[in-house]
This record gives sequence, structure tokens and C-alpha cells, in this order.
Amino acid sequence: MSLDRRRFLRHASTAAALPAFSPVAARLTALGLATAAPLHVNGERLNGWLAAFDRVGRTGTGINRVAYSDADLAGRVFTANLFKESGLAMRLDTLGNMIARVPGTVSGLAPLLIGSHVDSVTDGGNFDGPVGSFSAIEVARSLGEQRVRLRHPLDVVVWQNEEGGTVGSKGFVGELTEADLAKTARSGKTIREGIGIVGGDVARIGEATKKRGDIAGYFELHIEQGGRLEQASKQIGVVQGIVGLRWFEVTITGFANHAGATPMDQRQDAMLAAAKFTVAVNDAITSEVGRQVATVGRLNVTPNTTNVIPGQVVLTVDLRDLDQAKIDRFDERFKALAKSIGDATKTTFAFSVLTDSRPALSDERFMAWIEQSANGLGLTNQRMPSGAGHDAQEVAHIAPMAMIFIPSVGGISHSPKEFSRTADITNGANVLLNAVIAADAALA
Ligand SMILES: [Zn+2]
Repeated sequence: MSLDRRRFLRHASTAAALPAFSPVAARLTALGLATAAPLHVNGERLNGWLAAFDRVGRTGTGINRVAYSDADLAGRVFTANLFKESGLAMRLDTLGNMIARVPGTVSGLAPLLIGSHVDSVTDGGNFDGPVGSFSAIEVARSLGEQRVRLRHPLDVVVWQNEEGGTVGSKGFVGELTEADLAKTARSGKTIREGIGIVGGDVARIGEATKKRGDIAGYFELHIEQGGRLEQASKQIGVVQGIVGLRWFEVTITGFANHAGATPMDQRQDAMLAAAKFTVAVNDAITSEVGRQVATVGRLNVTPNTTNVIPGQVVLTVDLRDLDQAKIDRFDERFKALAKSIGDATKTTFAFSVLTDSRPALSDERFMAWIEQSANGLGLTNQRMPSGAGHDAQEVAHIAPMAMIFIPSVGGISHSPKEFSRTADITNGANVLLNAVIAADAALA
């Protein structure tokens, strides 16, 4: 590990000179003429990087680049090499995020930011994160090769530890707490230790923190991780935002008693109440049109014995939607359903909130630039929410953002079966490239 880290830090300090540019293309871009003839990335190169990256952290059970593990560090070394070969002078911020800047032509403008992450879940795939990270590097490289200079600085970022709680991006917007730092990551290291392992400095993370106005805006390309685009035969998803999420723990209390001797009309069966409640949650959430989702995902039964009526069940509900008011409304509805089921089964329901995160909405202009870019490239597209969390939800705290989705084959992610087609990846990178150009021309 220490060898990987030394190699990584050495790459991190490598600066490369930027080529000289003609201002003509930038002028055309600024005049909005770039939309008439969209630019293209080198898709073959981009997909070649992804294919080579598939060998980094690959085990018998999938990709295992879990944050702060040796494989994660190897993935970061690989990524640092891509920055370097692309002529981008990558540096580490004090959180351990990898960032490279392409200077703009107008002084005093805040940077546009593009990127994603390269860490994975346990037994994950090669596309969740790397697609957006490598595309961001490719976009910066393509702009340079095609002699297009943006007015704004363009910052390419690869966030550290997305899968363990969007750590790098959360710190970037100043939301990382002492409690977050004390959490243990899947690699077994604490976040505090992890920041040091990836080359950050936990005592100086404030130096990496940005505030509103520091970033002109953020685009992130990502695989969809669901099957909606594939089902709709659409090539590009224009993400309207990352859904808000509320997790409840519900404790249902009945009375444990003999399964043979207790008549059916004299029971206080917590399991029966849990079953009715599980069905009621599903009926309620599907009774309205919309993309709201709710899941009863965990059930702990006491005493969990064949011949005893369950006296207690603790279950969880995961509720998500893009609309905070709708989350609040279903919260109330689930509690009302619990009350009536409790009355009918002679049990009691107690709710506690485990997690509550608000929706992070995309910026209307940034979505329009993605649509304009997709349309200009002749790519079919649709607006959609993101049901999964992303670094973009953190950046949304301080800057306008929007995300670009490409199809996931079979809607599968966080699995070795995760797959996106090379043509879709190239399409996504092309949309990112032209959205950046459109935003650069339009933003102050
Ligand atoms: Zn991801």
C-alpha cells in the first residue's frame, strides 16, 4: 500500500504544460455558434481507458475498489496517469480529491466543474463512477486537442470515497462533520484515516472547502443504475435532481404468546401487523402517479420462533422522492395506516427517523444545456430523477448542477453484471462536452 501511495503522490505533483490555443474557436463558442456543429470526444480512447481500468481491483466476485483499500489507491494511480497523459496538471486538495484546472480566457470567472468518482462498492462493477470521471478527463483533453478555450476555468475533479457517503464532495462543500470523520469505511479505516491515506490532510480540510460563488456550476455524467432509459429506448437521461430520502425504523409491539393455546381472536400478533403494514405501504405508494418509491427492507422478529406468536417486530421503511412535500405527505400517510392496523391487530407502532436527506434539485439552465447538447448530437433524451445518491447532491449545496445519465444494461448496478455500452458512454461524454461549452458561453 505504501508503495502505491508513494507512486500516487509522485504523480500528483507532476505538472504538465498546456498547449497554446487559438482564440477563434472560443469566440465562435461564445457567440453560440458551437451548437450548430457539436464537438466530439475521442470515444475510442475513452472506452479504451475504461477497458484497461476493468483490471484494477477486479476480483473473482467483482470490482473491489472500496475507498482507502489498496485497490482504491491503485485506481487512483491509474487515474492520475490519465490526467498526466492528457496534459492536465492534477493536484490533490486537502481532502484527497484529485483536481486539475484548465485555465479560461476571461480572468476572474469562477470555474465550471466536471467529474465523478473511481471508488466502488464491495463486489461492484467498472462503470459506476469511472464513466463520469474518465469522460471529464476526456472532455478537457478533447477541448485542448481541438483548440477550444473556454472563458471559464474548467476544473476536472475525481472525488474520493463517493460510495462510503460522498466524503470528498461533502467535505468540498463544508458539510463533513466530526461524526462523519469518525465513521468506519468499508475498508475498515475511519474516514479520518482515509483522508490521510489518499493524500489529504485532515487537519487542513477547511482549505479545500468552497462556498457559494466559488463554483460556476457542476455537470456529472453517470450510468443510470436503473432501467428506465433502456425501457423507454432513450439514449440520454437529463437528471432533474437526486431524490430526497427518509428512513424510518418502525417498532411494532404486540404480545408473545403460545402459538397453540392462544385463540385466533385473542392474539396481539406483531408479525401479522408488520405484514399488513408492508402491504399497506406498497398500496399507498403505488396509488398515486409519480416516481415515488417506498420499501420495507428489513424485518427483525422477536422471538422469531416457530411456536410463539411474534411479540415484537422492528422493520425499516425507505421512502424517496424528488418532491419534499410528497415525502412529508407519505410520512403522514404511513403513520395513519399504522394507527389503523395497530387498532385492528391490538398492536402499537412507534416510528423513529434513521436518516433524512432533502432532495437536491438540478438547475433548470443546466438541464436545458444538457438537452440542447443531446438534441444537437441527435440523441434521444428524457428528464428523470436520480433514485441513487451522487456527489452532485453535495455540490448542489453551493452551486447550480445537473447530471447526465446513460443507459445501464438491464438496469443493473452495484454488481459485477453492471454494464454500459461503449456507444452510450461516448454519447454521454459528447453530451457533457457540448453542455460544458454551452454553459461556458452563457454563464457570466
Ligand atoms: Zn457512482
